[in-house]
Formats: sequence, C-alpha cells, structure tokens
Amino acid sequence: MQFLSYPQIRKQLDEGQLTCLELVKNHLAVIERKSNLNAFLSIYGDKAIEQAKLIDEKIKNRKAGKLAGLVVGIKDLLCYKDHPLQGASKILNGFISQFNATAIQRLLDEDAIIIGRQNCDEFGMGSSNENSAFGPVLNDLDNSRVSGGSSGGSAVAVQAGMCQVSLGTDTGGSVRQPAAFCGLIGLKPTYSRISRYGLAAYASSFDCIGIFAHYIEDVALVLEVIAGADAMDSTVSRLPVPAYSNELPSANKKYKIACFNDSIESNSLQPEIKAALAGTIEKLKQQGHVVESIDFPLNEYVLPTYYILATAEASSNLSRYDGVRYGYRSPQANDLSSLYKKTRSEGFGKEVQRRILLGTFVLSASYYDAYYTQAQKVRRMIRNKMKEIFSLYDFILMPTSPTTAFKLGEHSSDPVEMYLADLFSVQANVAGIPAISIPCGKDKNGLPIGLQLLADDFEECKLLGFSKAILGMN
Ligand code: GLN
Repeated sequence: MQFLSYPQIRKQLDEGQLTCLELVKNHLAVIERKSNLNAFLSIYGDKAIEQAKLIDEKIKNRKAGKLAGLVVGIKDLLCYKDHPLQGASKILNGFISQFNATAIQRLLDEDAIIIGRQNCDEFGMGSSNENSAFGPVLNDLDNSRVSGGSSGGSAVAVQAGMCQVSLGTDTGGSVRQPAAFCGLIGLKPTYSRISRYGLAAYASSFDCIGIFAHYIEDVALVLEVIAGADAMDSTVSRLPVPAYSNELPSANKKYKIACFNDSIESNSLQPEIKAALAGTIEKLKQQGHVVESIDFPLNEYVLPTYYILATAEASSNLSRYDGVRYGYRSPQANDLSSLYKKTRSEGFGKEVQRRILLGTFVLSASYYDAYYTQAQKVRRMIRNKMKEIFSLYDFILMPTSPTTAFKLGEHSSDPVEMYLADLFSVQANVAGIPAISIPCGKDKNGLPIGLQLLADDFEECKLLGFSKAILGMN
C-alpha cells in the first residue's frame, strides 16, 4: 500500500480534493477489515466522525489547526478524557479517564482526530505484545509473527493504514522495536521532552511518549505539537521546542558517527541485519561521513541496569492498583488482606506479577544497596560515558533489535530470552537520550530491518534530519 505523508494529505484537504470525513471513514474501513490483527481495543468511530465534520468546516473557513485531519491512534496507556483506559490489563476493567494526557490535549487542540485505543503489552511490559490481557497483536506482513512490543497495536495500526500516526510509549524500546518489526519510523525523544501527565506509569524515570509514522515529516510535526513545558509535569524540560518540521538540517550535512563493536559485531545479531547495517555504513562513508567503530566499556551492564531499575519503579508505581477505589476487584475477597491479594493475583497477568516481585526484591531492605543503589550508580556511569561519546561524535548507529519479527510464541516461555531482545533499545532510556528506529532493508523472509540512531540530549532536529537523509539514500 502507498501511504501519503500528512503534508500531502493536508494539501488535498486545503484544496478541497479530500475531506476529513472521507479520511476517517477510510481508516475505519481498514480497521474493520483488519480486525483480526487485534490492534485496537476500542474504536471511537462516532466521535471521530463527529470531529471530522467539525474540522471540515474549520478547513473551509481557513481556521483549522496545524494537525487538522491527522488521524491518530493512541496506546492504551494514554488518558483520553471520558474514554476507557486500562493498560491492556484486567486490573483496570471498567476504568474511564477523567482527564486528557497533555500530549492528547495538544493533539486535539490542533484538530487531530483520535480514532481509538490501541492494544499493547500489559502496562508496557513486554517486547512482543503477547502480554496483553486482550491477546497478542499480529504483524500485518506475516500474521504468524509478532508485532513487537510493548506498543504493538500502535505500530500495526500505522503499518496497516488504520491511522496515519500513533502515539506509543517507550520505556525500554517499546516504540522503536515494534517500529522496526513493522517497517516504520519510531521516535523516542529525550526524556523530559514530552510531558508524562496522563501517561499511566510503568517506570517513571524511563517512560517517554513516542511517535510512529511512515514519514519523518509527520514525526517532526507531531513532536513539535506535543513537546514542551507543562505545568502538570515538573520533570518536563523548559527548553524551547524547535519548529522541527521546518528546521530539519540539510541532507548534505556531514557527520561523525560511532558504532559500538559489541552491537554491530554481536553474535546474537541476525546476519541479514548485520549486512544491512554494514551496507548503510559503507554508503555513509562514501558520502563523506566519518564512521568509526568504538568499544562501549559498560555494555554488559546496560540491560541488567534497566531491568533492576525499571522493575523497582514498576513495583512502586503499580502498588496503586489494589481493587479499592477503581478497576477490577476480586469477588472472592472476604477481608482487606485477601482483597489485595486476590485482586492483584487475578487482575495482573504473569509478566506484570513477575516484574512486581523482581522490583520488590531489589527494593527490599536486605538487597536495596546491592541492587537498587548499585544500579543507580551504574546508570549514572552509563550516562556519563554516553555524554563523553557525544562530545566526540554526532550519532551512535546500531541495530534496533537483534532479530526481525519473530514467530508468536517463539520466546514467550523464557522471560530472559525475551529481555535479551531489548539489548540495543534500552541504552537510550537508561541514558535518557533521544533515539529513532528507521527502516533499513528486509531479511530473506521479506521482514523489515530497523536501524537505530542515538543522539545527544535534545538533538531531535539533527536526529530527524539525518534519518531523512539515510532514508533517502536507501
Ligand atoms: N521491552 C521492554 C520491557 O519489557 C521495554 C518496554 C517498554 O518500552 N515499555 O520492559
């Protein structure tokens, strides 16, 4: 299928060759036709149609916002007022958002249209979307394969043309890895670039809203609308937000790029991914960029640091789901303690329970210093080392994931195997820096390969510009 970019669609809308109503109806038809992919948990058809009609009027009157008619899907971790939110978990059965997440509010203020709530791994915990209480999401290219995770529904929805753009969340790769598995662009901006207000927390010091799209222009435009200071989240940066969509650097700019030997030469890397990256590196060199292989001395600590800290934060964040005030409550409970135990044992899936246990363990009095404090120190060392690298290089280039989309069920029996799938993506979250995955060829089964670029804090402009140049080159 050939997809248009938002600027192309907008031109047609402004010239009267297309209406928002037609757009929404087209997307709704695809959602219905491809419902077997299980990408959406709720579809807001009537509301989207109502909004489309209003925005068509605004377009006629030349009063429409920056994103008029942009059809967006949102991961089931983002609050959309008066609509259900449940993190693909049984524990939030029946919960309705009472306010809009800041990112959602900013999309609506610019006349984007929200078409539905998308399936994901429960509370964002997973790498294949097989940990959803509502069943896995299937990859549209091969229905026997996973979509990637945790924002699998958001990726497949864009891949299959069910919406133009999706908002996902990326705590350890959940936007970039499914983007790679589905042949899309997936951006995780700098931590603190986008407000987390209204994003249901998994691991607050890592959580970041991210964007899926087919085109860099669309990512840039959505980022400039949703990023920036927010009175509701004191961790958001006050740095001004560039007009990303107008300020992308020229494709002719020459850069200095580092590659980690441990990633591009890794034994766990699928050979076709290695070859695709090597091919791109060769082309970059031919075009006058400097690409150097370097060692990242803390490599073996990155994944354990992520899984210690993310589970610790999860065990604390998820303690609020107790069946008392909202969501699922076990009908079997007969006193307060059995209410907690039964509600949480029945309401949370296996993986979420495993993470809560792991996190509670690393925070327990006897192990706190050995695990949690130690991991915090290592996290700082990793970030410092990354900053040192960015004082010498513009970008780090690596694979997004060690493999292309794997088969459903292939890794789901062994959690450690699944955690290893996050080897390359967690680094950016541990360091808090921006990273993007872009399509870079296909493997022998025709499955997309993802190339990942990491940049220094707040260098999204450079990151998007260079990604566009690489996409143009391939
Ligand atoms: N796969 C990673 C995890 O399970 C990342 C998830 C995410 O980014 N939300 O923790």
